[in-house]
Amino acid sequence: MRVRFLGTGTSHGVPVIGCPCPVCTSGSPRNQRTRSSILIESGERRVVVDTAPEFRLQALAAGLTALDAILFTHAHADHIFGLDDVRIFNWRTKLPMPIYGTAETLATVRQRFIYAFEVGQEGGGKPKLNLLPIDGPFEVAGLHVTPLEVRHGELAVTAFRVREREAGPEFAYATDCNAIAPATLAALHGLDLLILDALGKNRHPTHFSLDQAIAVAQELAPRRTLFTHISHSLDHELTNAGLPPGMALAYDGQVVDV
Ligand SMILES: [Zn+2]
Ligand SMILES: [Zn+2]
Ligand SMILES: [Zn+2]
Repeated sequence: MRVRFLGTGTSHGVPVIGCPCPVCTSGSPRNQRTRSSILIESGERRVVVDTAPEFRLQALAAGLTALDAILFTHAHADHIFGLDDVRIFNWRTKLPMPIYGTAETLATVRQRFIYAFEVGQEGGGKPKLNLLPIDGPFEVAGLHVTPLEVRHGELAVTAFRVREREAGPEFAYATDCNAIAPATLAALHGLDLLILDALGKNRHPTHFSLDQAIAVAQELAPRRTLFTHISHSLDHELTNAGLPPGMALAYDGQVVDV
């Protein structure tokens, strides 16, 4: 099983439009962050978690030619607004795209993409979406997926613990969170890879800061931790040089074998 970081940036992306700070103007490819999303590859199967506004560009950069399903963590704009670009996969397969998320998340997705569910002129085509509410572990595209609730301020966000169908190494993707209840923490032990929200240097009402994310990672003790949903307050190289062993900021295009 392979995880590819399609994007690792917070909602503004990095560089931030018009920002003169050292990170935004560094020119380093590691400081170029599109909005957060991952691609999970298992054999010939492909699943993405979230469809960022740059989904089309991310898919091109990753050489994505087919997609089996989409998992949504929550329905904030930076996690869903690339969804229209699944049209090309609908057109190739002649099938609707399976979309997994909580009932609450999917209700908001339906509202935001209402044109996809209304009768009307097709023009260049509308995304064809098969909304599949989840309320417990499920299997998709050869993967066994356990949804887990984390807190993103007042909003419940879905983290995903994932392994291939047969028992094997597991990873978890927990973006957009600033608190994790004890029951969820207990379900996040024994990971090969933890991918965790770490927005930046300062405390924030809806995201873990880097120091808070490090503390969570130290408690859970996965074999490896990669931080995502990163703002322009963190320079890639400078930050990574100061992190504990086994932890690093992820970067766009990074590929990790689990
Ligand atoms: Zn976000
Ligand atoms: Zn900046
Ligand atoms: Zn969010």
